[in-house]
Amino acid sequence: MPFEVTVLGTSSALPTSTRHQSAQLVNLLGRFFLFDCGEGTQMQLRKYKIKIQKINFICISHLHGDHYLGLVGLLSTMSLLNRHKELIIFCPKGLKNIIDTHLKYSYTNLVYPIKIIELKTGGLLKVFEDEYCQLFSFPLKHRVPCFGFRLVEKKKSRKILSKQIEKYNIPISSIPNIKLGNDYTLENGQVLRNNDLTIDSHLPRSFVYCSDTKYFNKLVSYVYGADLLYHESTFHSDLSHMAELTYHSTSKDAAMIASKANVKQLIIGHFSSRYKDVKVLQKDAKKYFDNVDLAVEGETWKIKKEYNYEDNS
Ligand SMILES: [Zn+2]
Ligand SMILES: [Zn+2]
Repeated sequence: MPFEVTVLGTSSALPTSTRHQSAQLVNLLGRFFLFDCGEGTQMQLRKYKIKIQKINFICISHLHGDHYLGLVGLLSTMSLLNRHKELIIFCPKGLKNIIDTHLKYSYTNLVYPIKIIELKTGGLLKVFEDEYCQLFSFPLKHRVPCFGFRLVEKKKSRKILSKQIEKYNIPISSIPNIKLGNDYTLENGQVLRNNDLTIDSHLPRSFVYCSDTKYFNKLVSYVYGADLLYHESTFHSDLSHMAELTYHSTSKDAAMIASKANVKQLIIGHFSSRYKDVKVLQKDAKKYFDNVDLAVEGETWKIKKEYNYEDNS
């Protein structure tokens, strides 16, 4: 089952002729999360043939225009396409007023329900949970209230070794109990250990989205151990004074967070329009953390399953 991230926008506040503003779509086992919704996001979704109505959740990091100005257009399009299912939006305080004002003065009534959940500061906070995943928010350090997100897959129950089930003629009705990790007793009293009937499922995967922020040490704990980290990298480290001034990160900052937080892979994006060739940012980041990719619009990163044991056949 997929856990994958598709990048839709890679520019910072000033878009270029080839780079759009922030947006990423994450598919976690068929749940679709849109992280930020800069201008043109719905066009990018169209371009990459992603069905707009699939989106279940929209997570807006902060209220700078390059992260949310595509939202009202997207909401309107969902209505025009006759959406029925509820849309849940996680966002900082203020966005509800903005949306309500747009809808009021354009005399628009959306034909589907929206639930708006305002994010709170105070560390890593769970904002959503269902049987497959958990979504957390955490505060970033930017010029306005700004949040990152951590999306975590839940641990699955153990996988049944069907050959063993056949061998011992174990009834189907007993399988759910075995999946929970329990042993099984045969009619002759022989106890079969759970380890002989099942194998552990893959390790829960995680994705962290860090939009606009300056470097701060506490961020390491919010990001720690992620399989895939997206982190903004507006500037090269030779412009660290600009990053400091504008509450943004350099490619070195992003890489240092990835390294200290022991993440497996880093994607950098939110590139300043001054960089025609963003490879310089990747080269800079790689000095501090090896597994760095540049965000590329339309490209998808799949988060691979990993196991506690070597042979997962
Ligand atoms: Zn931005
Ligand atoms: Zn910003």
